[in-house]
Amino acid sequence: QAKSAGRRVCRLFDSEMQRQADRRLLIHNQLRNALRNNELVLYYQPQHMVSNDELIGLEALVRWQDGRRGIISPAEFIPIAEETDLIIDIGRWVLLEGCHQFVRWHEAGYQVPQLSINVSARQFHHPAFVEHVHEVLAETGMEPSALNLEITESVVLGNTEDTIHKMTELKDLGISFSIDDFGTGYSSLGYLKRLPVDELKIDRSFIQDVPHDTSNMAIVEAVMAMASHLNFTVTAEGVETRQQLEFLRRHKCAFYQGYLACKPLPADAVERYMTRHGSFAAGSV
Ligand code: C2E
Ligand code: MG
Ligand code: MG
Ligand code: MG
Repeated sequence: QAKSAGRRVCRLFDSEMQRQADRRLLIHNQLRNALRNNELVLYYQPQHMVSNDELIGLEALVRWQDGRRGIISPAEFIPIAEETDLIIDIGRWVLLEGCHQFVRWHEAGYQVPQLSINVSARQFHHPAFVEHVHEVLAETGMEPSALNLEITESVVLGNTEDTIHKMTELKDLGISFSIDDFGTGYSSLGYLKRLPVDELKIDRSFIQDVPHDTSNMAIVEAVMAMASHLNFTVTAEGVETRQQLEFLRRHKCAFYQGYLACKPLPADAVERYMTRHGSFAAGSV
């Protein structure tokens, strides 16, 4: 009796797992087609100085514009893409498209200092990653010192030597690096002093309940203190309220991004945003 019930549960479990696997495979295939059919688009979220609100950068965030389902969030499809080398192709497309757009903006007279691009662990550790970056820089004419790559702690995890080696190579070109979602990974802090990192991005989850959650505030303060000793700048993610911004100002956090300033925007809306924020100087180029 118990045995057959167990088998039944098992079968139920297996078929649920099978359904999940089928669904992932379906999405994976649709995503591959989406990349081929130009259905991926980049949105850009403005990054500002905390002290005076100056616009200092744009983070490229990919979306999937599906004819039937509308706009699909990267939180839904990037993890699936990361299961295979599809993330290599998507990552390369994002880098190319972002740099192309950024150079076009500069040529048109928009003067935002920096473009940030998210890089997945699998993409970063691909043997041809550095070569891909070289190719994109050459193809687009992107100024390497205007390019910031965001990697997560998972990039470093278990692969510190390859990470240091590649980062050093890219930094020699003038590219800068941020640790994205800082504080949410499981890596030790020891790696930080060995990596040629420029910036920590404090994860949104630590900013969320400021100024009500005293533990989160203590974490943000501790990250600020550590960053200052190690000579990293800090960007706060997910800033939604004036109080959060005020808290960051008091603690000398340099940069922020979040809905308080602006949601991620499609390219044409970013142009208007840049114009409103004094980043457009016609005739300057
Ligand atoms: P992320 O790099 O940490 O990006 C920040 C995410 O927080 C974005 O979500 C952004 O829309 C959202 N966000 C920004 N400000 C606020 C705010 O004030 N409040 C709230 N609630 N959310 C805010 P998005 O665009 O859905 O991207 C999710 C994640 O997907 C990104 O997190 C990143 O890890 C990944 N991703 C996006 N584009 C790419 C890409 O081109 N390549 C790779 N490898 N990953 C990407
Ligand atoms: Mg990011
Ligand atoms: Mg982040
Ligand atoms: Mg985050």
